[in-house]
Amino acid sequence: MAQPWSDKLRPVVPYVPGEQSKNPNIVKLNANENPYPPSPKAMEAIGQFDCSKLNLYPSITSAPLVEALAAYHHLSKEQVFVGNGSDDVLALCFLSFFHSATPIFFPDITYSFYPVWCSLFDIPYRQIPLDDGFRICPRDYDAPNGGVILPNPNAPTGISEGRAFLEDLLAHNQDVIVIVDEAYVDFGGYSALELIDQYDNLVVVHTFSKSRSLAGLRVGAAFASAPLIAQLNAVKNSYNSYPLDSIALAAATASIGDEAYFRATLKKVMDTRERTAKALEALGFLVYPSHSNFLFVTHPNKTAEEIFLACKEQDLFIRYFKLPRIENHLRITIGTDEQMDRLLAFLRTYLQP
Ligand code: PMP
Repeated sequence: MAQPWSDKLRPVVPYVPGEQSKNPNIVKLNANENPYPPSPKAMEAIGQFDCSKLNLYPSITSAPLVEALAAYHHLSKEQVFVGNGSDDVLALCFLSFFHSATPIFFPDITYSFYPVWCSLFDIPYRQIPLDDGFRICPRDYDAPNGGVILPNPNAPTGISEGRAFLEDLLAHNQDVIVIVDEAYVDFGGYSALELIDQYDNLVVVHTFSKSRSLAGLRVGAAFASAPLIAQLNAVKNSYNSYPLDSIALAAATASIGDEAYFRATLKKVMDTRERTAKALEALGFLVYPSHSNFLFVTHPNKTAEEIFLACKEQDLFIRYFKLPRIENHLRITIGTDEQMDRLLAFLRTYLQP
């Protein structure tokens, strides 16, 4: 019911994340979480954390993590920014870099949080259709715009573009900021990090939620030229000075120091992805090439919605987006081999002619 103050509330249409469930038996393949635990070193850092120090604010510059990331990626610490998950980092990027009356550009099929931030921050935007194979056409981004953002690999398609594509995009968009959201890049995609010294308008965003199994800790990062990072820090300090808590800082920093575990976990997820893709193809699914920790699929005989609901009945949670162009597609997160076998076993029975 309308209240006298109702018109004072900001109208918002929020982002809807993958469904959560309290049922311990569900196979949760709907939020692109990593099925493996975080690095033992990260868990040890939390176990050994001196809680008596929680009376103190964390480092205002998130110094230990910024320094560890700078060393890891061979950048200077002036080129690194961290935040409370990459959603926080991306929201701050939208606030910091998209400040033009000309619409920003991003694909029509993409991370569905982008239009949400645009409406929250009053940023005009235009969604550029992907081609019929769900690929981005770089020439579509040559028109005047207020900035560009794209995930690479794209979500929810999992399709990845390489260096030539990104250099082409950057070369044609030098007077605006170009953000590449690399949430899934560690699973075999091309990272634009190596282009940061060459293009001072490029921002690369990473997350600890996927490849580092730390979705619950909420840690993300941005990498860019020093002036862009200074701008991000100025906006962050106009909004929330301490986005990363001391425990998150300690654990995320420890995770960066465990390369062997990181590589081994990535390999397990990628091996399972390839095996699952083949098994799904054998069941008649069209499976898009994926460089991420999920598969984007469609089936010729059953609608995506039917498959989604049938899976849910069996406590198998996958992701279905009732959105134009992809309403007959499903996004399936790569879980453990056992989880994927449970899904495949059900699909084999369900799809029997
Ligand atoms: N970017 C993309 C493309 C994503 O799919 C996600 C996960 N929903 C994020 C960013 C945000 O991840 P997080 O906030 O957990 O770092």
